[in-house]
Formats: sequence, structure tokens, C-alpha cells
Amino acid sequence: MAKIQAPRGTHDILPPESRHWIEMERRTHELMRRWGFEEIRTPMFESEELFVRGVGQGSDIVRKEMYTFTDKGDRRLSLRPEGTASVARAAVEHGMLQPGRVLKLYYQGPMFRYDRPAAGRYRQFHQMGAEVIGSAAPVADAEIIGVFWAWLLEMGLQGLTVRLNSVGCPVCRPAYRERLRDFLRPKLEWLCGDCKERFEKNPMRILDCKVPGCQAEIVGAPSTLDSLGEECRTHFEEVQACLQAAGIRFEIDPGLVRGLDYYTKTAFEVHHAGLGAQSAVGGGGRYDGLVEEVGGGSSPGVGFSTGLERILLALEADGVAELAPPARPDWFVATVNSDARDEALRLVTALRRRGAAEMDLSGASLKSQFKQADRLGAAKVIVLGPREIERGVAMVRDMATHQENEVPLKELYTGGSESA
Ligand SMILES: [Zn+2]
Ligand SMILES: [Zn+2]
Repeated sequence: MAKIQAPRGTHDILPPESRHWIEMERRTHELMRRWGFEEIRTPMFESEELFVRGVGQGSDIVRKEMYTFTDKGDRRLSLRPEGTASVARAAVEHGMLQPGRVLKLYYQGPMFRYDRPAAGRYRQFHQMGAEVIGSAAPVADAEIIGVFWAWLLEMGLQGLTVRLNSVGCPVCRPAYRERLRDFLRPKLEWLCGDCKERFEKNPMRILDCKVPGCQAEIVGAPSTLDSLGEECRTHFEEVQACLQAAGIRFEIDPGLVRGLDYYTKTAFEVHHAGLGAQSAVGGGGRYDGLVEEVGGGSSPGVGFSTGLERILLALEADGVAELAPPARPDWFVATVNSDARDEALRLVTALRRRGAAEMDLSGASLKSQFKQADRLGAAKVIVLGPREIERGVAMVRDMATHQENEVPLKELYTGGSESA
């Protein structure tokens, strides 16, 4: 029969790489606990409408990249392309947004986008992200940038830079859009087909276009920062003051606009020196209109997200070979022959209550059991033979010093004197 392969754009996470994933997740939970964020787990599919409203009809994600299908009950569903819209939906649905209460949530898991696969870019990829919902204060923006920064350091990354911008709000953005259209109008014929469409609906998205021809045309485009209203300008200055107070260095990048419709005021990205042209390892921003967009009351929020496949690429570029060393067994229980099997099973079960223990599962010779123990990096090999068992002892070999000792079985079972 023909072999069945994983779908294009997906990847299996195999050992030993799966160890990195477990370790990233472990460090994430631990860091988020210290920062006071709690985990939220939402479904991997939602109604299509959520993303159309939450991510935005005009976004590339909704226009081209969603996995949308009709289920047997005639519902239009989409595999989630990102996490924030689902978090906002769940917060509204479960009445988590109370006046005066600030929600701090994080999530991690697979996301789905029908995109062209490339190095580190998959159709099923993994994101981690956090949201602060219920505060319009600049200190909430700094909390999100701060926790992302701390998370990146916790993963062991170096050579990171925060880029910061403000994309304005529904009050000051129309004036900016007009200025941008005036700048782009004479260049319109040189822009790609997508950007020609964006020109009327959402010209800001042209600044985000990855087509080289478009990137050349937007050089010298007016900055959102020159069009900010009083409120947005003050907010932007306060966010900078908070970041300075928190000891986070940043640079202002007036060309930074994020690809999603829902961002207001703060937009930011973190870049990694080792990743080349596409150097962002993640980013986010403020989304004061999103909760209303998905049917809740007015509730401002700010968040970040990062792609874990990108993080692993960045770690590789930094020369971090291993996030977590392989688990080496403390003991390998070897048997001289099959008569010792039952005692070996009893002993390995007892040892596993105190540490990591292995035994042969294939009926191999004693010599090849020693080879297995060596390959696994076992600290000690316990040799059980019928005669030793009768005498209530076992031979224990220290694999580093090659010293052998006869140890009473009772001691091995109880861990008494820890001579083994
Ligand atoms: Zn504004
Ligand atoms: Zn373009």
C-alpha cells in the first residue's frame, strides 16, 4: 500500500525535539505564574463569524488563509488562525469582564493558516500569547511588553530588540489614512494587486505588504506618529515612560503596523538579530475595540503572541543546542537470565517511585543490556541473577567509576543508606 504522509505544511514533533517543546511549555507555565497570568484553553475551531468580526474582514488571514468548513449541522466553522479573538469571545461568554477587574490570561497551542510553507512557517503552527483585558492604562501595555520580554529571556534568547509604534485610534486614524492615500495615490499603479484593493479599504495595510515592489514604494510614507490625537500621543508617551521604568529598552519604529484590523494605539514587535530579514519573533498591541466587536461591552485590552517554531529557529541561531538535557536513568536493572525477570520487574517498579529506572524489554543478553544502559547514560546498573536473588543481594555497577559492589536487595528496595 502507498505510504500516507503528513499534510503539507504540518510537522510532527518527534523526540528528542519534543523535549524542547515540553521544556518551553514548562518554563511558560512557571513564568506566567510569577507574573500573575492564568491559562485559558479555548476550542481549536470557532464559528467563522468570530474571526471575520474579530480579526477583520479585510485582513489577509480572513481573506485568504482560514481553514473554513461547513459541518454536518450546516454550521460555518473555522480552525482558529490566532488566539486573541477566542480569548475575547470566551471572556464575554463567561462574564469574566467585570467593571474594575483586570483579567490577565495566557494561552498556548496550535493555530491554523493556509499560507505558503517556508522555513519555520507551517499551516499548523504553535503560538503562545497573553492578554490583559479591562485596562486602558499605559501600564497595562508595559505589563504585556514586559512579560513577553521576560518570556523571551526565560527561553534563553539573546540579541533582542523591542520596536514600538502607535497606530492611533478610530478618532485620529481617518486623518492619517487620508494623508497616506495622498502619499500613495501617485504610486498606485506600481503597487501589487492586493495593495490596489487595500488602497480604499485599509491603506495602512499597504505598509505591511511583503511584496518587494510595494516595500520600495512605501519608503518615505508619512508616519502615524505625526497624526496622533492628544489622547493617543499622551498614551504613547506614558507607555514609553513605563517601559523605561521597567528597564526595557526599545526603539520607535514609525513604519510598524500589525497585520490585524483590531489594533489601536500601541503596536510592538520584538526582533531577533540572528533571524535575517524576517527577524520578528512576535509582537502585539492594544485592541480597545475588539471586545465590543465580538459582542461584549466596551472593554479595552492589550496582548502579545509569539510563534514557537520561530522561537526554536532563533534559539538555533543563538547556538542553543538543547533547552533540556535528555533524561538519564538513575538505574538500569539488568538480568543474568529470564529467571530473574519477576524480581527485576518488582525492583524497577520500586525504584521508579524514587527516580528514573529502566530495564530490558527485549530479552537481550547481559552484555547487550550493559550496552543499552551505556547508551541511555544510566548512572548505575543493577545486575540480578538467580543465585544473588537467593542470597538477597544484587551486584551494583557504577557506570562512571566502573566500581562494583554487592548490595542487599532490601537496601535497593527501600533506598536505605543510598549505597545504590
Ligand atoms: Zn487617537
Ligand atoms: Zn503590495
